[in-house]
Amino acid sequence: MENHTSALIIGAGPVGLSAALELGRRGVPCTVVERHRRLGRRSRVAGVNKWTMELFHYWGIGDEIHRAALPFGATGPVTWKRTLAGETLGPIRRDASRPETWSPTVARAGDIMFCPSDAVESALLAAVRRCPSVDIHFSTRLRGFENTEEGVTAELTYGNGEPGLVRADYLLACDGINSGVRKMLGIPLDGMRMDMDLVAIDFEADLRTWTGERPCVAYWIINSVSCGCLVPRLEGPRWIYTAFRRPDAAVATEEWCEDVVRAATGVPTLPLRITDAQPRSMTIEVVSQFRSRRVFLAGDAAHRFLPMLGPGINLGVHDAYDFAWKAAAVWERWADPTLLDTYEPQRAAAAKRTSEHTAEFLRLMAETGISADVYDFATALEEDGEDAAALREMVRDAARKLEGHWAT
Ligand SMILES: Cc1cc2nc3c(=O)[nH]c(=O)nc-3n(C[C@H](O)[C@H](O)[C@H](O)COP(=O)(O)OP(=O)(O)OC[C@H]3O[C@@H](n4cnc5c(N)ncnc54)[C@H](O)[C@@H]3O)c2cc1C
Repeated sequence: MENHTSALIIGAGPVGLSAALELGRRGVPCTVVERHRRLGRRSRVAGVNKWTMELFHYWGIGDEIHRAALPFGATGPVTWKRTLAGETLGPIRRDASRPETWSPTVARAGDIMFCPSDAVESALLAAVRRCPSVDIHFSTRLRGFENTEEGVTAELTYGNGEPGLVRADYLLACDGINSGVRKMLGIPLDGMRMDMDLVAIDFEADLRTWTGERPCVAYWIINSVSCGCLVPRLEGPRWIYTAFRRPDAAVATEEWCEDVVRAATGVPTLPLRITDAQPRSMTIEVVSQFRSRRVFLAGDAAHRFLPMLGPGINLGVHDAYDFAWKAAAVWERWADPTLLDTYEPQRAAAAKRTSEHTAEFLRLMAETGISADVYDFATALEEDGEDAAALREMVRDAARKLEGHWAT
């Protein structure tokens, strides 16, 4: 089977689907291939910012995403704690510091909204399916491609095992954090990687005794057995604990995950069920080039930021929109193909700003004890005396400084 399309999009995550939607709404022929047979296998809590919400409203899916999101006021502030059930070290008054964010009008126009990422993807997919010019294939994998000045020829394997060739004017790689396209092009990532291994643990447990009905947006946990970030997943008793692995930690088995989650909650007998565990790293990395001839990189394929409360979806959706409206303008013949030359400098500048903002966030987080040395910090905090009291004061002050950062 050989087909021709204007844009071949690799990956049906939020970024690939956003590009398909913008192209599809303009009637531009495009093909999306996704190696998995369905979306949303691993739902995260996406912090969708106001600029992304503007796009979602423009695409006609804003109300749907708004309905799926956590209502404003339904969560408490970000909080630092020794354990969930134990001592509070310091809160960020995220909303209380900016009363205007409580307004339903402002919320509707879009401030940060916390929404399950599978709800975002489902809304995007349903809208994409309403676009007749978009062809979407699940269980279909990109195997390789030839990239010339004239176009791209991609080798695919369809779900039934049948091979296929697609010729496209452009290929947009939205194939995620371990992007095969990026690797095939040999494009390196530049930036920094903290010397810290993380494990994102999805689990189910009823924590209402310690959170009440209004859990915090995030709990940063600091104790000498378990440090990490505990985040509610909005639906029912589901949580994600992104645990920082101690340098001397054993292999992250299910038993290890149970132990660190229980140590984070401070409830040794807590009934819980681990549903998933994935290794992560603390990175701020951006590709050295966003484009090679007819291939463009977008989303996590082009930049990797912190796994928790990170800016990934937002920056990626804007990469997708930038590529798509420009590719559509070229296809509609009201712009010269050189318009696409602006993709790289503009997205690189946006990624640079995001990197700087994220690096500043990390610097402030280090003042709250969250750094590669977090376990040393936790141990010092557990020793009674003036030094530990000074550390507690430091966490409180740093959390206050972060209020401003959160608000930007
Ligand atoms: C614990 C956690 C919390 C997070 N919290 C936030 C947050 O609050 N805010 C935020 O903005 N971001 C957050 N993120 C990051 C966010 O999830 C990602 O930035 C976002 O999903 C990136 O979207 P993407 O479409 O670029 O990549 P992905 O969502 O990874 O999608 C890539 C797709 O490409 C497919 N694919 C890969 N290779 C191939 C191939 N060869 N052929 C076909 N298909 C292929 C994959 O199957 C996948 O579906 C979080 C991430 C984690 C892990």
